[in-house]
Amino acid sequence: MSQTISIDALKQLVSEWIAQGKRAIGPTRIKDDLVLYAPLADAGALTLDGFVHPANSIKEFLFPRTEPIYTYQFKGQAIELGDSVPNAVEQIIVGARPCDAASVAILDHVFNWDFADAFYNARRQATTIVALGCATYDDQCFCTSVGLGPVAEKGADALLIPMDGGFEVRCMTPKGKALFAGKTQSSDKTAPTPAGPDAKFDLAEIRARLSGNYEDPAWREIVLRCLGCGACAYTCPTCHCFDIVDEGTAMGGARIKNWDSCQFGQFTMHASGHNPRATQGQRQRQRIQHKFRIYPEKFNEILCTGCGNCTRNCPVGLGVLNTLEQLRAFMVLEG
Ligand code: SF4
Ligand code: SF4
Repeated sequence: MSQTISIDALKQLVSEWIAQGKRAIGPTRIKDDLVLYAPLADAGALTLDGFVHPANSIKEFLFPRTEPIYTYQFKGQAIELGDSVPNAVEQIIVGARPCDAASVAILDHVFNWDFADAFYNARRQATTIVALGCATYDDQCFCTSVGLGPVAEKGADALLIPMDGGFEVRCMTPKGKALFAGKTQSSDKTAPTPAGPDAKFDLAEIRARLSGNYEDPAWREIVLRCLGCGACAYTCPTCHCFDIVDEGTAMGGARIKNWDSCQFGQFTMHASGHNPRATQGQRQRQRIQHKFRIYPEKFNEILCTGCGNCTRNCPVGLGVLNTLEQLRAFMVLEG
């Protein structure tokens, strides 16, 4: 037995959320070759098939590209501070790929391990995530190499798995159950389990290489074509670095949190002018080391969900999978 919902009934439900003043977010076709996660003006904009992965990730709806954390104003010799209140309207992300939903479970740890980020947590508490299982995948997908898969439930409140005429609905959390209560039908059919991509690498082998070869000469070769543009990090669901800057006038302004990327040349620039990661090879090493060795040592999980966005969005076709494959090629060459 399973619970199911038709495509029409799902879109009707999305219309109800919007009519209730909730923010519905989902994959939307912007143009023929571009699908993005975006707020839905109406349920008709929700795109549920015909694409592999949106070009962005869902992190921007929990951790915006830019946001003020407080304002300040000079009043004579005094400074008046003003709190910025997070804009936490109730929102439902529907149609999130399982690799994106899984990234939220990772971000929960990052934004709460030593300091509870009030901005992230306010949005997180106001968010329900309905994942959409993947009927297809492309050459850049490698979820099955990092412990996930096309119907992984990690981070999702509910999961829709495509089947004839609609979806099987699996609700994992009270939020997911509340969202679909009375909206599904019992069925004696279950959705077929999609195969997902073949495993692309051996995690233990990669981690052993990263642990024992910090000054690996492979980095100089692998990253020769990297432009340092940061598109990989900005479209990655798990990259979470930010910078804090003051923007304003002599009379006042705001302290702003902006996305940042370890691929930018000035990311680690010291005030002295010294840059401990002066080359693009060192910066790529940092990204891979962080995702596959440093972060797992601290949090016991990989900082990558295998979504493939870093490769699809890279102007020179690099990205994590390609980098790991080249690292593996070096290992084979070296015997
Ligand atoms: S790997 Fe690609 S996307 Fe990332 S910084 Fe280099 S050129 Fe840009
Ligand atoms: S590193 Fe690449 S494959 Fe891994 S989660 Fe980020 S964008 Fe996706």
